[in-house]
Amino acid sequence: PLVLGIESSCDETGVAFVRGTTLVGDALASSVDEHARFGGVVPEVASRAHLESMIPMLERASAEAGHRLDDVDAIAVTSGPGLAGALMVGVASAKALALCLDKPLYGVNHLAAHVCADVLDHGPLPEPTVALLVSGGHTNLLVVRDIASDVEELGSTIDDAAGEAYDKVARVLGLPYPGGPHIDRAARDGDPEAIAFPRGLTSRKDMERHRFDYSFSGLKTAVVRWVEARERAGEPVPVADVAASFSHAVADVLTRKAVLACTELGISDLQIGGGVTANTQLRELAEKRCAEAGIRLRVPRIRLCTDNGAMVAALGSQMVMRGLPPSDLALPADSSLPVASVQA
Ligand code: ATP
Ligand code: MG
Ligand code: FE
Repeated sequence: PLVLGIESSCDETGVAFVRGTTLVGDALASSVDEHARFGGVVPEVASRAHLESMIPMLERASAEAGHRLDDVDAIAVTSGPGLAGALMVGVASAKALALCLDKPLYGVNHLAAHVCADVLDHGPLPEPTVALLVSGGHTNLLVVRDIASDVEELGSTIDDAAGEAYDKVARVLGLPYPGGPHIDRAARDGDPEAIAFPRGLTSRKDMERHRFDYSFSGLKTAVVRWVEARERAGEPVPVADVAASFSHAVADVLTRKAVLACTELGISDLQIGGGVTANTQLRELAEKRCAEAGIRLRVPRIRLCTDNGAMVAALGSQMVMRGLPPSDLALPADSSLPVASVQA
């Protein structure tokens, strides 16, 4: 099937065409620069940017794919979770297209779409697979038995998301928003073992109650305190070492619990997705630990890790191929759609 995907949950307006598991057209506009001076995404600004970019992105993706909108078999759209006003622009656009073109509409979960993105690089997902989703607003450990309809949550962050921690630590280090890529770059010249930052929820007691959960707020506070103590003492802050040690602490807990989930559940495949998956140390440590544990690791190219329309089209395409019925045209935008609700 040829499926059109529309993404507008945060600050990226993504539109893409996917045939089966092949990406044939992909257009992306971002309002990230407009939010930078506020140090975070401003919902009103994001919604307006989606409105301005939606039609140009539909035209660009269509031209790249060499297909008219009318050629598609179905339309998939992110219906949640995300910013309500931002989601509404994508959902309203998709509904309008579905009505005008008389095509089935699939409301898909943004988080499941992050996991599904990898089919565009490496073909159908092995099922079951453990999936680690690490993005700006979420950090989840999942068991995927059927990417189109059966995703179970093993655990999640009990406070900050991993990406959120990156953005906050970047601010303390005086690096621009969004912080992830800047910390990643700074960390290349640093020593990941220089500073022993805490690993949240890994004590023996926490491993009983929060075996597959994460916590990054204690780590963030530890970094802030460490940097402030340096500044108070009038000493220079070794930005590269702090960045490398912080990134190592994040990558360590993320991969440790993901590998543990695989071995305890007897699942030998791990899928990693979401914006933080772009992180160099996370990719390297995941590769090393999976190789040691005999787990097959799948990580998509970086462009497919951050928000895009391709992952939405990819998940919609899986729903069509598996014969799932379309969503209702009254489909709402749901800002807090739970991760286990793959289709809305
Ligand atoms: P969600 O998917 O939970 O709704 P989101 O869509 O805003 O949130 P993504 O686009 O998936 O999140 O990811 C953005 C996050 O990824 C930001 O917090 C950003 O700092 C982080 N990030 C991007 N590149 C890197 C990197 N190289 N290292 C670490 N973090 C990164
Ligand atoms: Mg973004
Ligand atoms: Fe996202």
